[in-house]
Amino acid sequence: MRLNHHPNDELIFDYASGALGEARSLPIATHLALCSECRREVHRVE
Ligand SMILES: [Zn+2]
Repeated sequence: MRLNHHPNDELIFDYASGALGEARSLPIATHLALCSECRREVHRVE
């Protein structure tokens, strides 16, 4: 997942709630490491 391709709200929510499996979480975790905007979104839905 590239920096300019943000995961959508549903993916963010599933990631934050742990509903995604490890394999699907990994690219999102990688994106979050680089994208402060999406990190804020994760904190918002947590
Ligand atoms: Zn992002």
